[in-house]
Amino acid sequence: MSTKGLMQNRPLRIIDILMFAAEAFPEQGLVSSREEGDIHRTTYPESLARASQLAHGLVEMGIRPGDRVATLAWNGYRHFELYYAISGLGAICHTVNPRLSREQMIYILNHAGDSALFIDQSLLPVVESISDDLPPGIKLVAMTDVGNVPASSLETDCYEKILAGNSRHFDWPEFAEETAAGLCYTSGTTGNPKGALYTHRSTVLHALMTIAGHQQCLKSGTAALPVVPLFHVNAWGMPYTAPIVGMSMVMPGRYLDGASLFSLMDAEKVYSAWGVPTVWAGLLKEIQNRGRPPEGFTDLVVGGSAAPRSMIEAFENMGISVNQAWGMTEMSPIGTRGQLPAPLRNAPLQERIDAKVGAGRRLFGVDFKLIGENGEELPHDGKAEGELFVRGNTIVSGYYNNDKATSAAFDDAGWFATGDIATLARDGHLIIRDRSKDMIKSGGEWISSIDIENTAISHPDIATCAVIAVPHPKWDERPILIAVPSSDNLPTLEDIHALLSAHFAKWQMPDDIVFMEDLPLTSTGKISKLTLRKKFADYVHPDFRNA
Ligand code: AMP
Repeated sequence: MSTKGLMQNRPLRIIDILMFAAEAFPEQGLVSSREEGDIHRTTYPESLARASQLAHGLVEMGIRPGDRVATLAWNGYRHFELYYAISGLGAICHTVNPRLSREQMIYILNHAGDSALFIDQSLLPVVESISDDLPPGIKLVAMTDVGNVPASSLETDCYEKILAGNSRHFDWPEFAEETAAGLCYTSGTTGNPKGALYTHRSTVLHALMTIAGHQQCLKSGTAALPVVPLFHVNAWGMPYTAPIVGMSMVMPGRYLDGASLFSLMDAEKVYSAWGVPTVWAGLLKEIQNRGRPPEGFTDLVVGGSAAPRSMIEAFENMGISVNQAWGMTEMSPIGTRGQLPAPLRNAPLQERIDAKVGAGRRLFGVDFKLIGENGEELPHDGKAEGELFVRGNTIVSGYYNNDKATSAAFDDAGWFATGDIATLARDGHLIIRDRSKDMIKSGGEWISSIDIENTAISHPDIATCAVIAVPHPKWDERPILIAVPSSDNLPTLEDIHALLSAHFAKWQMPDDIVFMEDLPLTSTGKISKLTLRKKFADYVHPDFRNA
């Protein structure tokens, strides 16, 4: 007898998400702070109709299954329509990060071999600056209406012209669920960017897994604000999770400062907001200025970098639940959920905050293992520190057209090497200690730069900070603290040591404090340690200043 079950097997398709939302949640949709300067409102049924019109337009432009169609745009309803129309056709939506350097952008557009590039008005100058190096034959489209296409040296088509007059219905084709749907390059801090090529199957599964792990943040009938960009890692899957659960999305466009976010969140009664810690530091400042949080704001999802304890504490003290998530471009991107296990949910505040510092627990469908320096598998005991490897249906199996990077990224059993140094507790709690290259090794012992940063940032006169290693002939490496002050009272090194002394041994303390006006950021808003290390290449350690 066959051991096969008797169940239907329908290919998972991204477009089915929007078709479902249009039927099940016709009153939900998108509120977008537009490039044109106003607030635009639409519903999921209208988004589906416009995605259909766009799909007809794409076919007329000559886009075929498998073609790469690039977007260079902020969070807004047109970008959302592109996500669905491009992948719905069987083509590949290649999101391009506008914060990449000119060289990186030229590299990825040509490496992907994009057939078309859809551009937000405010980003046209970026494309003008690389116009000589675009892939041959690429078609450019300005994402606005006819009356608003700005004067440009580029020959562009107009988004609304492409949609105009087309049928509001499209016969979405069926294809294998392993068909490529999205392409996103890592904002990797070293070497050329590498492409993660998502499939329909991985994208739909990622959405379902995220909903299962982050139930409290994805609540039907409320509004979510993805600050995390559609131009990088699919805005953490929000364009797919929100329509499935029947949540509206408030798209902030390009204005991500604390004051703009506060006003938009307050006006739209945003329930849950998603983004990196840098952005929430700005919002916190605005909340402090105004003396209250935005109305209705209940839930914060923070990831992309470790959220400092002081930030978690500040939001929790206001009654806003902080849910930390960890993940990577190569993981679609979410790998963990920060929700507390049931026994801790009613624990005293400090205990809950203790449990929220860290990267959370794995999502169902994501497997973890820790590997030591000699390739040995380490115990999940909360102490053993090793490189985290991951496996699952939402994790890359290789990089797009890049055999060299692919061969370096996996072990023999096919697990993906994250490059993160971590501990895993028995109950699954993941603590990211550092990126492998960011860990500081002093006298043969490890120092976690993240731990020092998280404590140092709680100093009232420090706005943001980073710890980097500088070479030291005796100790091999020593940590120094680079800080951006938040007032004119510059803290001394002794002040910082006093703050750190409760948590760190003397030898773990930074040897110097250096002030800067701003810290360099990567294209996704994280502090760029690589740039800092380069900047401090000629730095002289205090031990040798008068030598
Ligand atoms: P990206 O591919 O740009 O999303 O960067 C992924 C990397 O960001 C991870 O490998 C981690 O090093 C870091 N990261 C993401 N989320 C967190 C988090 N919650 N805590 C600490 N590091 C994080």
